[in-house]
Amino acid sequence: MSFDKQISEIRALCRKLLDEDKTDVILAYTDGDLDDGSLIPIFVRSAEDIWKIKWGDRCWQNLAPYLHGREDRVAIVAKPCDARAIVQYVIENQLDRGKIFIIGVDCPGMTDADGDPRPGCGECTVRVAPEYDKRIEDDRVAIQVTNQGDGTFDRRSLDRFKEEIDKCILCYSCRQACYGCYCKSCFIERDTPDWQPAEIDAGTKMAFHLGRAMHLAGRCVECGACEAACASGVNVRYIISDATDFIEEEYGFKTGMDFDTTQAMLTNKLDDREVGFFGGTEHE
Ligand code: SF4
Ligand code: SF4
Ligand code: SF4
Repeated sequence: MSFDKQISEIRALCRKLLDEDKTDVILAYTDGDLDDGSLIPIFVRSAEDIWKIKWGDRCWQNLAPYLHGREDRVAIVAKPCDARAIVQYVIENQLDRGKIFIIGVDCPGMTDADGDPRPGCGECTVRVAPEYDKRIEDDRVAIQVTNQGDGTFDRRSLDRFKEEIDKCILCYSCRQACYGCYCKSCFIERDTPDWQPAEIDAGTKMAFHLGRAMHLAGRCVECGACEAACASGVNVRYIISDATDFIEEEYGFKTGMDFDTTQAMLTNKLDDREVGFFGGTEHE
């Protein structure tokens, strides 16, 4: 299997969906005019434009955020990480599952212009969309996990965290790129209490990143979009993944793998351990 074979199958399916009036629009990738060769989102509404749909190792963007707030019927070309975000949107009542057709495309991993893995792709263990209406297979894809944590828990350090946020200029691009940050009013921009003083200091940056990490706990689909969006070179996933790994290790929960598993952060058991951030155990 190859990208070319996959694109033939994707286009044939999209044509069928439009011909049979199974969807109002197709959300997919097409050629962009950016120097880095990355593909960009396209909305296709008629069969004559289907040739514009492309697929390859530069489909960097997570397309799921383009579904948020839509009410029409959409068929979406979804990488596994995009599909996991769609699952979360449905669970969080942000999308009507009945209106979304998930074209789950097996993903061998996205690469940058030098052929190196994009943020999130090198360590990605979910290469087949966990939920889909139609799967577009690729036999290069061999890695897959179930809805259980894989035990790769590795506590981050506070020093490294400080190093990362030192580079941050609080532009919020990471938040804007993340499927999961859809609040109309982000906590950091609310003025009661005033989280964000006029001067951008380490405390404000820490408040933003720790707050965002908490809001993404059990919701991060490990797509890497936040880190890819950061022009300051902050390893944003280093910060978020502490919470993600914690949820996997403590609760055996991996985000966006199915529509039915109870969300880790929606349950409370009396014997849940109390563990401090960055591995602190003072409350145990
Ligand atoms: S994070 Fe995984 S599914 Fe998403 S683009 Fe990278 S390899 Fe593909
Ligand atoms: S994109 Fe980078 S610089 Fe901007 S807020 Fe996020 S971590 Fe900070
Ligand atoms: S926090 Fe980053 S890696 Fe996680 S879902 Fe949001 S953009 Fe993707």
